[in-house]
Amino acid sequence: MTMTLTDLPTDFEGDDKPHDECGVFGMYSPQPQDLAWLTYLGIFALQHRGQEAAGMCVSDGDKFHVEKDLGLVTQVFDERRLDSVRLANARVSIGHVRYSTTGSNLRFNAQPLTTRTNKGILGLAHNGNFVNAREVRDIMLMEGALFATTNDSEVMLNLIARESHMDLPSATAAAMKQLKGGYACVLMSRTALIGFRDPNGVRPLVIGQQDHPAGTGAYVIASEPCALFAVGARLIRDVLPGELVWIDKDGLHSLMVNAGKPTPCSFEWIYFARSDSRLDGIDTHESRIRMGEQLAREFPVEADIVVPVPDSGMGAAIGYARESGIPFDYGLYKNPFAGRTFLAPTQAARDLKVKMKLSPTSAVRGKRVILVDDSIVRGTTSRQIVNLLREAGATEVHFRVSSPPIKHPCFYGIDTAARKELVSSTHSIEQIRQLIGADSLSFISEAGLKQAVGGPGLCLACFNGEYPAGAPLLNDVDKLALEV
Ligand code: SF4
Repeated sequence: MTMTLTDLPTDFEGDDKPHDECGVFGMYSPQPQDLAWLTYLGIFALQHRGQEAAGMCVSDGDKFHVEKDLGLVTQVFDERRLDSVRLANARVSIGHVRYSTTGSNLRFNAQPLTTRTNKGILGLAHNGNFVNAREVRDIMLMEGALFATTNDSEVMLNLIARESHMDLPSATAAAMKQLKGGYACVLMSRTALIGFRDPNGVRPLVIGQQDHPAGTGAYVIASEPCALFAVGARLIRDVLPGELVWIDKDGLHSLMVNAGKPTPCSFEWIYFARSDSRLDGIDTHESRIRMGEQLAREFPVEADIVVPVPDSGMGAAIGYARESGIPFDYGLYKNPFAGRTFLAPTQAARDLKVKMKLSPTSAVRGKRVILVDDSIVRGTTSRQIVNLLREAGATEVHFRVSSPPIKHPCFYGIDTAARKELVSSTHSIEQIRQLIGADSLSFISEAGLKQAVGGPGLCLACFNGEYPAGAPLLNDVDKLALEV
């Protein structure tokens, strides 16, 4: 199949990046604290993981407040709304930020989700996807279960509620054994906080603790360490793949439910996680620099300057410049006020939209430029950026990418776009080079990526189609309909 860039889909937000679908946060505090405010700070630190909905639950052991809505954390939680969840003696809270695919019924699916059981109310915040949620839900429907939303998180919550004859950690462990996929969740009752991670540790989850003179500082569970630091906690450790941790009045407890081969999402290090994060013991910024160094070793080219696509290509560009000895330069200015914008209906409008965000500096004039980015999804934005550099006087543009070509959809909570929209699944590297108008184009190898990140294993399924945590049982797995 051949296709031109003007054939490429237009119904996306315009940054042409994979999108993480959620960030989760939870706190258990032995001492009463303003957990509404602290949860706000925690999910604000995770805003990069989801910008379309935000929410939180707060309990003092008796009352249980929930607020959620569409929008950024600062838009959902103005002072009045934050007050509405505030409890003087709050002990437990969870929070969530959500990204979702275009067209989803977002308000309906905003989290945390809540349900009532014979042991009281529960709240769940979920990052990732359960690949067998559809089958499990169909069985539960036949058994008489009711579902209020269309998202797979509710299947997990219903499974836990169904086991409410058990204590909450045991009920959660039983539910974990029934659902497959890549996920990290926080769950709360009025008196306890639970965090759990899929058997392969595809999605990240970390534990931290605030300092307290008596050693009873609040515990915090979050998608990334930046959310711990935002509330004054230090990182204790990662939740292990397949582990369930719970925190109650007796402290922190752990149960290994279902350990598998660790294969955390490589895209956390390539792009998603904040550059100040450290996941599974691997520093994000340092690993991005190593990817750039590896790229320079694998695909050297004569040039005058190395330019990152801001901000996603920053770390890899630093590494490429260091390894090649070619000067790093600030060749693209990113407008800090350009957030998510309208969907542009025409190619001309899309070109202008990129110009709203990025503008070349004088550094590229008359220069042979090595342009470094973390990924190419559809290729549309890449072509526009190459054009910007040429219009600004770059004599050559050599595109280097710190991820391998994305050829397969993600079933573990990342919106990589449907297979037919992924330019690398339908085009050779040489065809993509021609489409984006670069003088050369190279992607880091899978082996090079593994070496740069390090660690015992990685999920590379969107590059090689080998899904470590299983794939959905669909005849057409072109793109899982994430909402079941
Ligand atoms: S398929 Fe890709 S984006 Fe999805 S979890 Fe695996 S590495 Fe991450």
